[in-house]
Amino acid sequence: MTDHTFDLVVLGGGSGGYAAALRAAELGKSVALVEKDKVGGTCLHRGCIPTKALLHAAEVADTARDAATIGIRATFEGIDPAGVRAYREGIVAKKFKGLEGLVKSRGITVVPGEGRLEAGPAVRVGDDVYRGTDVILATGSYSRTLPGLEIGGRILTSEHALELDEIPSRVVILGGGVIGVEFASVWRSFGVDVTIVEALDHLVPNEDVALSKALERAFRRRGIASSLGVRFQGVTQTPEGVTVTLEDGKTFEADYLLVAVGRGPATAGLGYEEAGVTIDRGFVVTDERLRTSVPHVWAVGDIVPGLQLAHRGFQQGIFVAEEIAGLSPVVVSDTQIPKVTYSHPEVASVGLTEAQASEAHGADAVVAYEYNLAGNGKSEILGTGGIVKVVRVKEGPVIGVHLVGDRVGELITEGQLAVGWEAHPEDIAPFVHAHPTQSEALGEAFLALAGKPLHAL
Ligand SMILES: Cc1cc2nc3c(=O)[nH]c(=O)nc-3n(C[C@H](O)[C@H](O)[C@H](O)COP(=O)(O)OP(=O)(O)OC[C@H]3O[C@@H](n4cnc5c(N)ncnc54)[C@H](O)[C@@H]3O)c2cc1C
Repeated sequence: MTDHTFDLVVLGGGSGGYAAALRAAELGKSVALVEKDKVGGTCLHRGCIPTKALLHAAEVADTARDAATIGIRATFEGIDPAGVRAYREGIVAKKFKGLEGLVKSRGITVVPGEGRLEAGPAVRVGDDVYRGTDVILATGSYSRTLPGLEIGGRILTSEHALELDEIPSRVVILGGGVIGVEFASVWRSFGVDVTIVEALDHLVPNEDVALSKALERAFRRRGIASSLGVRFQGVTQTPEGVTVTLEDGKTFEADYLLVAVGRGPATAGLGYEEAGVTIDRGFVVTDERLRTSVPHVWAVGDIVPGLQLAHRGFQQGIFVAEEIAGLSPVVVSDTQIPKVTYSHPEVASVGLTEAQASEAHGADAVVAYEYNLAGNGKSEILGTGGIVKVVRVKEGPVIGVHLVGDRVGELITEGQLAVGWEAHPEDIAPFVHAHPTQSEALGEAFLALAGKPLHAL
């Protein structure tokens, strides 16, 4: 057995873990980063980046297919799955190389292998023990399924769906959350017959209901079928396909079933509980400063209850590194984290929905305003519909910004600044938005809430 000593040992090299390692090294700490697969984790290799590459390929397919509508002569001949794979893998490989270089340049020791938490605190990898003054747990998440629903054959998770080398003709997607909706969008653009099955009453059910309804309308127009408010009952599969049955007796035949019912925390069998870390339903329990129940053991990313997003992981990783260094960073609040679903159309939000705001402040104390993208010149040029919805406290700050429409994900940053700085619409009104941009729609909503609408009633 060999003992190694570092200021900080990070278990898991995904978004949360590597961000913590990079920031701690920048602050002069010696850092070991234990990773059993590839630094970059789910987001880089199986999540954000490859799916967004697919969505971009899907957008290009739609643009080529519809080119004649704007007077451009183009021929759409079809999708080349091998070409799309090469494009996607090329992007991931480039980002991975860059990240490896960055980690190396900061002097971080990457320890390949499967780690296990031990008292001390320390992380054991085979016969080696890595002791840290502090240890950060960042082991991420895995694709969950439902009880009795076994993954395999024609029943896929998002990891398998990414690896498919064919374009199926029909797919059923179980789950209308972010991952389900993004795959539905890609496959539809690739010509696939898609049905989404969601037990709750709406797609993207965590979003403001106005966004869910707008997305549902847009998906209907694109020919994406949804079964909402009915629970999945079971699935059978043959070598040729699957038959999915719902509790109301409806059945759907398809080539594949994609199970996209959420992600579970990867915490089992890693020594956490044995070392005294409190776990609740698989998640690591922390206080708001991300301390676990064991002194000098911290947790970041998808294993901490809340939004499972890469940029939340980054921010939590940076936070813990700075906290350890005694810099007293600002607590990472989930309500200030922007969320984007990169489908066609996109859905983006930050802060409270109108319903949450009414619950928190009382319905009479909340004002919501919706601006339709039909009034926005740039959106008209791009051929996208959608809405901008802003929620404020009456005579008070903006507390929620909610957007639907192509490319609106890029606009959420302004919403985030407004919500984060607790800006009043009257404070924002003097800031001019460039014309013609989609950001003007957000400007119009703020102007309207400040009592001086320009291109709106
Ligand atoms: C299909 C899909 C699309 C997504 N798209 C987006 C998006 O567009 N935007 C967004 O913000 N988020 C997106 N996400 C979510 C995002 O990927 C996660 O929130 C993020 O990766 C979480 O980071 P993490 O560090 O907590 O965990 P992970 O990225 O899962 O990293 C955990 C790492 O720990 C390693 N590990 C686990 N156990 C051990 C062990 N015992 N020893 C050593 N190493 C170990 C793993 O190999 C892994 O590399 C998507 C996820 C999926 C699945």
